[in-house]
Amino acid sequence: MSVNDSCIFCAISTGRAPARFIYQDDSACSFLDINPLRTGHALVVPRRHVRDLADEGAVEAVAAIGRALQETAVLLSTKLDADGISVLQANGAAAGQEVFHLHFHLVPRRTGDGQLTDHTPDESARLTLDETHRALVGRAS
Ligand code: 5GP
Ligand code: ZN
Repeated sequence: MSVNDSCIFCAISTGRAPARFIYQDDSACSFLDINPLRTGHALVVPRRHVRDLADEGAVEAVAAIGRALQETAVLLSTKLDADGISVLQANGAAAGQEVFHLHFHLVPRRTGDGQLTDHTPDESARLTLDETHRALVGRAS
């Protein structure tokens, strides 16, 4: 498995940095974003380090996260009563990518909760990160 020692998502994936995990399997994991755009905002991350969709390893990395995407979407829908889920994904700094390890944002949506805008505080926050984590996985991290 390709891991980059200076990458924060590799550190999280390999247990060298903490995260509020909500789903894990051999090839991918998902955890709560520390700066949520909405309550339950999760990141789905392949364990293999690839930079973005244009990276040569991206085919395998994208294939590896299918189950994690689906399981995470089910958790957000059922445990947080999301009305919908927005998927966001950035490739390159010009597109707003800040962590250069391929990842997909799953953002739970509620009917009428307005536009999703980068770096806007979560006006609709209903739960703290720990409360959100407990609601999703039934225990604190
Ligand atoms: P990007 O702009 O690269 O698509 O998004 C990176 C996301 O990673 C941001 O939403 C940011 O809040 C989140 N993030 C950055 N560092 C950490 C971290 O150490 N832990 C967690 N859980 N999220 C992080
Ligand atoms: Zn990485």
